[in-house]
Amino acid sequence: MQNNHEERVLTGDRTTGKLHLGHYVGSLKNRIDMQQKYDTFILLADVQALTTHFESPKEMGQHLRQIAMDYLAVGIDPEKATIFVQSLVPEIAELTMFYSMFVTVNSLRHNPTVKSEAAERGYDQLFYGFLGYPVSQAADITFCKATLVPVGEDQVPHIEQTRKIVRRFNELYAPVLIEPKAVVGEVPRLVGLDGKSKMSKSMGNAITLDASAQEVREKIQVAVTDPARIRKSDPGHPEVCPVFTYHQAFAAGKSDEVATGCRSGTMGCVECKRRIAGRINELLEPMRERRVAYEANPRMADELLIAGTKRAREIAKETMREVREAMGLNYR
Ligand code: ATP
Ligand code: MG
Repeated sequence: MQNNHEERVLTGDRTTGKLHLGHYVGSLKNRIDMQQKYDTFILLADVQALTTHFESPKEMGQHLRQIAMDYLAVGIDPEKATIFVQSLVPEIAELTMFYSMFVTVNSLRHNPTVKSEAAERGYDQLFYGFLGYPVSQAADITFCKATLVPVGEDQVPHIEQTRKIVRRFNELYAPVLIEPKAVVGEVPRLVGLDGKSKMSKSMGNAITLDASAQEVREKIQVAVTDPARIRKSDPGHPEVCPVFTYHQAFAAGKSDEVATGCRSGTMGCVECKRRIAGRINELLEPMRERRVAYEANPRMADELLIAGTKRAREIAKETMREVREAMGLNYR
């Protein structure tokens, strides 16, 4: 397919643990399609991970490699996508500092995602770096002049914040930066196995992409369902059942049949869960096969990150040159 150089994709993941099904439907699936058409950058966000995991920085290296392996297993093509490490591109930190001069604290405090994440952790634990992570994310996106950002719904306010930063910078100094657009996945927010919050690495409510077939079955078995349904013959309410949302996300073609069976009390939760576990395993099977092949050569992921980071850094240096020029900071 023709590569469209007008558009550039930037997206990424915090290095806080293995990738899960929420990542797949929220963002990875789009990335796999988009890498065919657009110059694609994928960021391993280890600095952003520190905003919540600063007490365990030593684990970042392991998470970084795991996620790189997840990318390869899921079908990110290392020939097409530039995968790089955030902390090894110090220009991103420099750009974050410049942007932070004209972003108000109130705009960050009112960002709905920051607000709900801060509420989860408790406001007395609201750190300066955490409050500012959308600014750092704006630097991630703009250093490579990305135009498209495939993300889950929780990230949409951050892309909006980035657009504002770009407009403000261009108006204050010179039109150097590009306004990006969010590209939200088919399932903008996959709910976790607990049925409460979004499936997330940090909440222990996820099915990871490297889960074995047995693990998938066990996790689905204990997933929360419609609380009003106790016996199979009780009519169920798929619209409030977290497991039903998995049918919609992963087996959309058959979800009507499941909904009818559930409502009429002819399909019990055991059968419903057996079906969806089977479907998820079908999805994960080719990933398992690719993973085995890549794991046989673990140096490959490291080499890929070194090459990707080198390319990202070259672009970052060029953007910083333009940014400094625009701001009048190019002292010579
Ligand atoms: P953490 O709990 O450490 O924040 P996470 O599971 O939220 O981890 P991130 O690295 O923060 O994962 O998110 C990476 C990308 O995946 C983002 O674009 C995010 O919107 C998307 N994403 C994460 N979880 C889901 C989900 N449950 N449904 C849809 N998209 C998701
Ligand atoms: Mg997150």
